[in-house]
Amino acid sequence: MPNRRERILILGGTAEAGEIARRIARERPDAEIVTSLAGRLRGRPDLPGELRVGGFGGADGLAEYLAREGIDRVIDATHPFAAAISAHAQAACGRLGLPLERIERPMWRRRPGDRWRWATDMDQAARMAATLGRRVFLTVGAQELAPFLRRGGPFYLVRLIEAPARPLPLPSHVLVLGRGPFAFAEELALLRGFAIDLVVTKASGGPATEAKIAAARRLRIPVVLVRRPILTSRGPMD
Ligand code: NAP
Repeated sequence: MPNRRERILILGGTAEAGEIARRIARERPDAEIVTSLAGRLRGRPDLPGELRVGGFGGADGLAEYLAREGIDRVIDATHPFAAAISAHAQAACGRLGLPLERIERPMWRRRPGDRWRWATDMDQAARMAATLGRRVFLTVGAQELAPFLRRGGPFYLVRLIEAPARPLPLPSHVLVLGRGPFAFAEELALLRGFAIDLVVTKASGGPATEAKIAAARRLRIPVVLVRRPILTSRGPMD
């Protein structure tokens, strides 16, 4: 009887998850890869193995899924701000005794010339944006715009990966679409072109979106960083 092929679940929605899926497919052709996405975006990545989309139904639903699908191990390559799914993965894998590997995205390194200001959450970041900036580059993701919807606030240059289903209800804004990796020269041109005087971002880290931090440093523009959520197994990385 040949051994059953190892089944690996990658919790994804990030560039790292795609890289891991491609690496495992190259190095372990005997393994079966399943990548799971929450389904926030309409587009679907082209990945080796199986793709499943949508929530599991909390930690219980994930544990049921892992058992039903015969998953042997889980790689949590979700975004540093995706705290719920990471906690569910810990709980479900703990319950079933499955190995769980967490991929940590390194935080950007603070360098001379950086003018970073920390916000504990998006509400605080929005209050800081309204007082510190007149023309704000906002790269916090489509799900996080509500706190910025104030009348009479600054002008926002909003960057999203996909066009929203409805127009953004921000009073004064321009929407640009783009997906990393972003180049330094492009980010510099964008900040200059829109006369940006403040950048607001999650402290996501990683090389793909670091160029805006470098461009802000070059232009001496302050950056408001929203702290990472604290998970049980990892703290905020600043
Ligand atoms: P979250 O708050 O941790 O998750 C909310 C719920 O969405 C989870 O409870 C789970 O639903 C479902 N979910 C999340 N990730 C999933 C996955 N990979 N596969 C299946 N279901 C998933 O996460 P979020 O911040 O909304 O982010 C959603 C996804 O977008 C994540 O996979 C993340 O990697 C990606 N992403 C997030 C950000 C960000 O800034 N938050 C940025 C880039 C990419 P159930 O409880 O029903 O299982």
